[in-house]
This record gives sequence, structure tokens and C-alpha cells, in this order.
Amino acid sequence: MAAIGWIGLGHMGSPMAAHLVGAGHDVAGFDVDPRMAEHAASAGVRLMTDAAAAARDADVVFTSLPRSEHSRRVLIGDDGHPGVFDVVRRGALVLDTSTVDVETSRACHDAAEARGIRFVDSPVSGGIAGAHAGTLTFMLGGDEQATSEAAALVQPMAGHVFVVGGPTAGVAAKLANNLMLFISLQASSEGARLAEALGLDPQVFHDLATVSSGDSWPLRTWYPVPGVVETSPANRNFDATFTTRLAEKDLSYALAAGDAAGLDLAAGRLAMERFARLIDEGYGDKDCSLVVKYVGRDGCTPGFDPSAG
Ligand code: NAD
Repeated sequence: MAAIGWIGLGHMGSPMAAHLVGAGHDVAGFDVDPRMAEHAASAGVRLMTDAAAAARDADVVFTSLPRSEHSRRVLIGDDGHPGVFDVVRRGALVLDTSTVDVETSRACHDAAEARGIRFVDSPVSGGIAGAHAGTLTFMLGGDEQATSEAAALVQPMAGHVFVVGGPTAGVAAKLANNLMLFISLQASSEGARLAEALGLDPQVFHDLATVSSGDSWPLRTWYPVPGVVETSPANRNFDATFTTRLAEKDLSYALAAGDAAGLDLAAGRLAMERFARLIDEGYGDKDCSLVVKYVGRDGCTPGFDPSAG
């Protein structure tokens, strides 16, 4: 069993770390927010006073942090503050499960290599439900030996594990996947409202579309009409299963990667404009499927009551 350090015990990190405890590992964890850390402690994670303390004696360190800048600061360090790569022992394996931009992932690989640390970019798909169920899809990028070790380690948290390729390949896969997700979300929002406007029964339309060529993951999971799909946020006033803020972050990283590659990701840009508008209107913490709001010209959204919070 390995000595594991876990930094970032939030909605994803805490249940993921709990699965490693369940698999018999010793997990030393840290989160800047003590309320988040408490959940992990109740699942058997030993709480440490800072990130360095969680990493120092570990064979393997995981991070699950909000944005690129957090991963950079925690792993590489800044302003004279040491990062995980400065304190962890040489030869240790470090996995960043956060969704970060390609440049950040590249910087982490370079910094780790310079210090004799093995690093694997390890973003996940499957959301908070997948983190609790231990059914996440892991997308691993790094050198062959490090990724095959990482693939074995993440098993207790995973439904699927893909060794995608070399450094940054995991992050690249995650960003391309989420670009498709958010474009498909836009498509199912428009299809749902058009079907309704043409007088179709929403359940009948949903049932036939999921076995027809309009099928997609957001159609099956986030269908933005109340009373059709149990998992849809439309049944619960668009309370978040995936916040608009998180969607905007992921999509901004995908669009930046597209720009750098000289691509015209026009559908992605439209989805981005709509997430930005939701955030401007104060709905950053609502579910990203609330983009359906902008399909109806009257702004009226079935299942959404803005005054209900
Ligand atoms: P979260 O905000 O719930 O958790 C992040 C945690 O990191 C917070 O508890 C925060 O206090 C902590 N943190 C911030 N800075 C820190 C620091 N310097 N040291 C220690 N802890 C620090 O976010 P989340 O939903 O758990 O997402 C985590 C990562 O996983 C993100 O990169 C996200 O994009 C990715 N992700 C999330 C989902 C999802 O559905 N929530 C799905 C796939 C991937």
C-alpha cells in the first residue's frame, strides 16, 4: 500500500481520496478550506496543516484544484513559496486530476522533470456522481512507465482508464471532450425547445431522439425540460450538477487551445458566449444546462424560477 498525499479535498477530491482510503492506502490530505477537509477526514483521510506536509513523505501525490493558477502555485510554487515538486522526494509520482489548460500542464511536466519528479496529467470525466461512485474516466498523459503506474493507482476511483499519450495528452483529451459536451448541450437545448414549439410531447421526442441520430450525453442526462429525465437539473430549478462557472472555465481552456492551433471553433465560441452571459446575469453557480434560457426569445424557461434562488 502506498503513502499518498492529496491536495484539494473539494467536491471531487474528497470522494476520490476516500476511495483510496477504502483501497487500503494511507492518505494524508490538505485543503485550504477546513469545512471541505472535514468531509475527507470523516472518510479516513489524515488531515495535514499544509500542502507541503501532505506531500513530503508521500510516494504518490494527487491534486484536485479549481483552476490552472491553483495547480501551478501548488505544484510549482511561486514568490519564494515552495511547491509540491520542491518538497516531495525524488522519484515520487505526482498526478494532477484538475482540469487545467495545456500550457499549465506543460509547465508542470517541465518543472517536475527538472526536479527528478515523475508527473502525469490525469484529468477526469464523470462529475461529482462519478467521483462518489468510483466510476470516473481517467485520461492520463506522461511517459510510459509513469502512466502505467498511474493507471494501476487510480483503479479504485475509476470506471475507465485511458493512457492517452505523452505529456499533456490527458489534458488535451479532456478539453476536446468537454468542447463537444458543451456544443452538444447547446444542440439539445435548441432541439428540446423546437420540439416543444412544434407541439411534440417532450417525453416522446426525448425517447425517440435518444435512439436516433440526435442522441448525445447531455440529451440523455441534462434534457432541459422538467419531468422527462430524472437526472436533469430542470427538475430542480437548475441547481448545479455542473456549475456554469466550471463549464466556462473548461471551455475557455479548450478555446485557447484551439486558438493556439489556428482552429475556428465557432460552435464552441457560441456556447462560451452563453455561459459568459449566464455568469453576468448572476447564474454562475446554477447548472450550465440553464443555457436553454436563451433559446426562447421571451426568456421564459420551463422549470426555472429565478426568484426561488
Ligand atoms: P472544488 O472547488 O469543489 O474543489 C477544489 C478544492 O481545492 C476546494 O476545496 C478548495 O478549497 C481547494 N483548494 C484551492 N486552493 C488550494 C490550495 N492552494 N491548497 C489546497 N487546497 C486548495 O472543485 P471540484 O468540483 O472538486 O473540481 C476540482 C477539479 O476537478 C477542477 O479542476 C474541476 O475542473 C475538475 N472537475 C470537476 C468536475 C465536477 O463535476 N465538479 C468534473 C470533472 C473535473
